[in-house]
Amino acid sequence: MGRPLRIAIDGPAASGKSTLAQRLAAHLGYAYIDTGVMYRAVTWAALQRGIPVTDENALTRLAETLDLDILPPTVADGRPYTVLVESVDITWALRSPEVDAAVSQVSTYPGVRRALTQRQRQLGLRGRVVMVGRDIGTVVLPEADLKLYLDADLETRAWRRYRELQERGETVSFEEVLETMRQRDALDRGREVAPLRPAPDAIVLDTTAMDIEEVFQRVLALIEARCQETPHVAG
Ligand code: C5P
Repeated sequence: MGRPLRIAIDGPAASGKSTLAQRLAAHLGYAYIDTGVMYRAVTWAALQRGIPVTDENALTRLAETLDLDILPPTVADGRPYTVLVESVDITWALRSPEVDAAVSQVSTYPGVRRALTQRQRQLGLRGRVVMVGRDIGTVVLPEADLKLYLDADLETRAWRRYRELQERGETVSFEEVLETMRQRDALDRGREVAPLRPAPDAIVLDTTAMDIEEVFQRVLALIEARCQETPHVAG
């Protein structure tokens, strides 16, 4: 088998997916696609327009029609990409505690998922991608050549997210971050359509006691091993 052309990385919030995916994409010269951005952009636009997070029909229409662009970074402020909604730069607004608190509810709706999954699949099928989300290995790109599922215990993930928010100057307590994450986990794992879970053929990595360098090296070794596997020839 050659080098995997489509790499799917799933897992709960702050399990280390995005950092790993960005490093892998840079190392392999692949595109990095963070599908959570799309769910966040729909949620942000809904909050702006006063659409209640319970209004499934209005949210579905919004997901189907939202003018959303994800571009290479346009400002050198540490962002991995620039996100525009109707030409407005919402890259950092997507990470606010308000979006965090509402996004998993918005993501439960089948119509919202259908619209965004379609956009994601088109991007993923181009190949040479590292795609990150909750349902990439199971629904968006089940044909991915390498599927990873990153996990870590809830407290560790909440501390990681709390420190990120503090660095950006957001005023939020650790307890609030922990509670929001607990609720998001429950919604993401419990929803009927495309729940968060490892694909049967995913490699599961627990990153609780690992730093990003260790995770990255581990995954590079996996890719190396895949490259050297020779296809089984019958007979
Ligand atoms: O990855 P991130 O934390 O930005 O994702 C935000 C939310 O978007 C997740 O908690 C989940 O509810 C939703 N999501 C999803 N499917 C994806 C990516 C994200 O349901 N593929």
